[in-house]
Amino acid sequence: MIYMDHHATTPVDPRVVRAMVPFFSEKFGNAASLNHRYGKEAHEAVQRARAQIARLINAEPSEIIFTSGATESNNLALKGAAGAAPDGKNHLLTLSTEHKSVLDPFKRLALSGFEVTHLPVQKDGLVDVEELKRAITPRTILISILFAHNEIGVLQPIAEIGRIAREKGILFHSDAAQALGKVPIDVRKMNLDLLSMTAHKIYGPKGVGALYARRGTLLAPQIDGGGHEGGMRSGTLNVPGIVGFGKACEICRGRMKKESARLLKLRNRLLVGLLKIPGMNVNGSLKHRLPNNLNVSFPGVESGELLKRLKNVALSSGSACLSTSPEPSYVLKALGVSENLRRSAVRFGLGRFNTEKEVDAVLRDIIKVLRRRKNGADAG
Ligand SMILES: *Cc1c(COP(=O)(O)O)cnc(C)c1O
Repeated sequence: MIYMDHHATTPVDPRVVRAMVPFFSEKFGNAASLNHRYGKEAHEAVQRARAQIARLINAEPSEIIFTSGATESNNLALKGAAGAAPDGKNHLLTLSTEHKSVLDPFKRLALSGFEVTHLPVQKDGLVDVEELKRAITPRTILISILFAHNEIGVLQPIAEIGRIAREKGILFHSDAAQALGKVPIDVRKMNLDLLSMTAHKIYGPKGVGALYARRGTLLAPQIDGGGHEGGMRSGTLNVPGIVGFGKACEICRGRMKKESARLLKLRNRLLVGLLKIPGMNVNGSLKHRLPNNLNVSFPGVESGELLKRLKNVALSSGSACLSTSPEPSYVLKALGVSENLRRSAVRFGLGRFNTEKEVDAVLRDIIKVLRRRKNGADAG
């Protein structure tokens, strides 16, 4: 079986597992129990991980709030910023193609009286920056825009948006679940106030993530209790998970340039092979795109049918969160992709352990399935 669904999740790197193991048993302390060795050991490990994560995005360790993943980080960033906004400010700005864990918190905020603008995107999936500027009002609290898209892999002009937001005194949040560890992120240079991250998309464990919140950013906590994480997110810290997340960031930081170049080469090999299939269509910008992503449509071929026939390849027709729903992608719809092409979209997400051989095998399988299907159709 070949795994090419790394936007949904990734296997935990064996080095990450090794770093985590002691913190389940021997070093089991509560990171808040600072009056004995067990607690101190756990606390120190958490602080080390905080520094490893901060370093990958050029933040300060004190600006990292641990959460259960990017979904929770998005909820804390959006509901937290809205909840702490001064009187008179009630407007929030985002894109129609955002991840559900951004769109749904906004939906709830709209129910409680906030005004939410969902900007359309261009045919290539990118935001129209001029349109974004025009949508800003004196009441705007925050702009939230995905760093890298989980379905189509497009990279938004984050630095440019950051400049605009800072100039206008508006908070800037980005969901970087897919971008972290794959493309350079510098929260200072990019003027980011809030950034959502998760470990399980970067070869770390599931159920742990973080929100970077620039020092001084006011947020209303969403989980109250023992006052952990500076009162921003209460609950006993998931020490093994946090240690794994830190290690995963450290590995990404050391290898990012080389690994991203390798993934890009694999992706382009895949693309060149798929271009031989008549009518094949690439969804979203190829130029502004994650190195490991490809989203294509084979017109006339239902993606569900194709994926079922590709017995030895793990691929997806779009977002994992939506794969239980028969509705074709709202993301591709927002790009103006036709119904026919939407129904035939397939997402490739390459990862750390994929090889050239695997790419070639997947190409052979796809071409075989499509040919067999066509022959069947001709015969019928
Ligand atoms: C995976 C993903 C999430 C959800 O992250 P969890 O840690 O699973 O909650 C949010 N946003 C994007 C863009 C993602 O790819």
